[in-house]
Amino acid sequence: LPDPRRQVWTEADVKRTLPRRDRNAHKGSHGKGLIVGGSTVMPGSVAMSARASLRSGAGLITIATVESAIPSIAPFIQEATFVGLGEKEGFACRPAPSSLSDYDGIAFGMGIGRQEPTRSLLSEILQEADTPLLIDADGLYELPLDLMQKREAPTILTPHPGEFAQLTGKSISDVLARPFSLSRTFAQAYGVHLVLKGPSTIITSPDGEQRVDVSGNAGLAKGGSGDVLSGMLVAMIMQHDSMMDALANGCVLHGKTAERLTSDDHSMIDLLASDVVEGLPITFRAFS
Ligand code: AMP
Ligand code: MG
Repeated sequence: LPDPRRQVWTEADVKRTLPRRDRNAHKGSHGKGLIVGGSTVMPGSVAMSARASLRSGAGLITIATVESAIPSIAPFIQEATFVGLGEKEGFACRPAPSSLSDYDGIAFGMGIGRQEPTRSLLSEILQEADTPLLIDADGLYELPLDLMQKREAPTILTPHPGEFAQLTGKSISDVLARPFSLSRTFAQAYGVHLVLKGPSTIITSPDGEQRVDVSGNAGLAKGGSGDVLSGMLVAMIMQHDSMMDALANGCVLHGKTAERLTSDDHSMIDLLASDVVEGLPITFRAFS
């Protein structure tokens, strides 16, 4: 029996709901985003996320990363501004960047590592950020679930099945066997938006509505694809009124970009996450 609270999100849905650029827009109109991530051993993650965010229409992007990584990544992302985070042995630590409330959207976790000092940085941000906060990758590791329930602003979690298994204490095979019901139970219990990624991506709202994105292909099964998606989603969140439209549209635009690239100039073997970022212009021309 079809579930009335579950819907496959199509290209037509994206075309219908993607906001058009206002003629009188200025850079503040489309949001000021903060991307918190990276470490000395994984500096490129935030550069890809930030580029993806800017290529998806974000007005301004600030990257908060370990101070020592800034000189190496800055040349790859000329449009971003930077905040240097304190570091312990190459990984970020507290304090959180000041004036978190200046941002319209925050993404945390790409390439940030799983060290203890980084976990307390996230706890501080979870408590202080009164703006939509997307948590991905290493940010999901040993996530303090009690802090999420206390947040008033939206929280968005974007795990792949392995990360979701760790979050729920289930096995990966359990997650793959019951992705819809486990997503709904988790999103409702913790009051979060959940994007469970994979060949089909399931997007669940805190009240249990679900959308399914079936776009993309195995060319995306590469390091960095998730970092690109996170950056795109922050940009979408800042430009949509509806969180579910933002998340579903971002997922479909990410997958459709990979599909087009692997049918034109690329194969699923060679496609890189950074190619997906540079493929976004043609996707947005087709969809907007
Ligand atoms: P991550 O595992 O965090 O790097 O995220 C991978 C991204 O690529 C997610 O958006 C997945 O939905 C997408 N992806 C990975 N493998 C596939 C696949 N075989 N088919 C479609 N999308 C995929
Ligand atoms: Mg990932």
